[in-house]
Amino acid sequence: MISLLKRTRGGLTPDDRKSFARTEPLWNAAVPSRCVVPLLQHVGNPAQPVVNVGDRVREGMLVGRASGAMSANVHAPLPGVISQQVSLTLEDGRSCAAYVIELSGEFDRLGKQLDPIDWERKSARELLKTIRECGVVGMGGYGQPVDRKYSARRGSGVDHLIINGVENEPYVCADYRLMMEMTDGLLEGARVAERILRPERVTIAVQAQRTDVRSRLQRRVRERGLGYFVHSVPAKYPQGDEKLLTQAVTGREVPGGASPSDVGVIVSNVATVYAIYEAVVYEKPVVERVITVSGGAVRQPANVKARIGTSVQELIAECGGLQSRPEKIVLGGPMMGHTISDVTLPVTKRTTAILALTAEEIYNGPRTACIRCGRCVRSCPVGLEPTTLYKMLDHGDQAAAVAAGLLDCIECGCCGFTCPAHLPLVETLKRGKQALPRRKGTA
Ligand code: SF4
Ligand code: SF4
Repeated sequence: MISLLKRTRGGLTPDDRKSFARTEPLWNAAVPSRCVVPLLQHVGNPAQPVVNVGDRVREGMLVGRASGAMSANVHAPLPGVISQQVSLTLEDGRSCAAYVIELSGEFDRLGKQLDPIDWERKSARELLKTIRECGVVGMGGYGQPVDRKYSARRGSGVDHLIINGVENEPYVCADYRLMMEMTDGLLEGARVAERILRPERVTIAVQAQRTDVRSRLQRRVRERGLGYFVHSVPAKYPQGDEKLLTQAVTGREVPGGASPSDVGVIVSNVATVYAIYEAVVYEKPVVERVITVSGGAVRQPANVKARIGTSVQELIAECGGLQSRPEKIVLGGPMMGHTISDVTLPVTKRTTAILALTAEEIYNGPRTACIRCGRCVRSCPVGLEPTTLYKMLDHGDQAAAVAAGLLDCIECGCCGFTCPAHLPLVETLKRGKQALPRRKGTA
């Protein structure tokens, strides 16, 4: 079944800059001779080190053990020797220890035909255990451990699983290629998730203009006899946000400070569901992922499957290197990603994209006073008044900002993108939220 869902309010329709993805299949990036593996690639505590400098590790071997419910296991992406343990500041400002692994020895999986496991004999509890052991986290960028997300809600009123293939930040198209080229693995992962969560309905959501991926998914769903719905949502940013997607697909509004699971919905990104498939069917830990490498400064924009721990500069080189000087390099999408200054940083389980953007591609300009044009208000997809919230926070009145809906802000950046005065709207709102006492996070 296919349906075109209604537009939600606000939002933007930026130039998507993904035309290369229609014709260029993804490829496997070269295996690096050295990788840097952070012990923090998820939302919770860093994993605890379980190997030492000088140890020899095999591909996929556990190197960091989850430390707490929101933490996740970390595995060696390469066979080799741990040459150093270093301290790393990640793109989001958090710090952690990381192992440097120098490649040597045999690969256990690369290029080998692996036998699938008969996972259907396993209980939901056993499937969740495998998912936890393999270190599967939300790979759309948030990084919540999947076993935690699923087990917290299993049997407690979740009736709808939405598989999120709506990546509507400009440039980012890794999930699109994954859906086109790894369709059956994705659908098998969906079956595993369905088996664990037992929802009444499973929906795969894709962007309306992706008619090729929609047809492909619909055909394979039909051929495999799966009762999944393939829904198209308008090509509008930030329609892929899980709260907005929940509302668009189910009509249920997710309150501020709550998550979709609070209204009976689990949303999982397509890359996450594919990682579930590899974990359960092949017992393969998360040691690689599909990443978009793009931006006007990159010579050959592409989607590549890269080993975790490969450096940003190596993946840019993999895509022909730079053809002009980038004004900034971003990990993630241009709206919600993080600007980095160090191109030796490694990619992690949460890295959806590497963008090398030229000056012409960056929204920049001198900051002026608010001219009360109302553009930020019109662009806000959740109906807030960003200019009012900004002024409240600027005056230190956090309580008023909360009363005016600060917690409903999904940090999409639409307001700042449209502001002709170049005010740091989303940055101020983010800081305002971070300064609040710890609240229930979104998944
Ligand atoms: S960042 Fe927050 S306030 Fe700004 S448009 Fe997005 S949801 Fe609205
Ligand atoms: S878009 Fe910028 S200038 Fe216009 S009302 Fe909002 S904050 Fe003021």
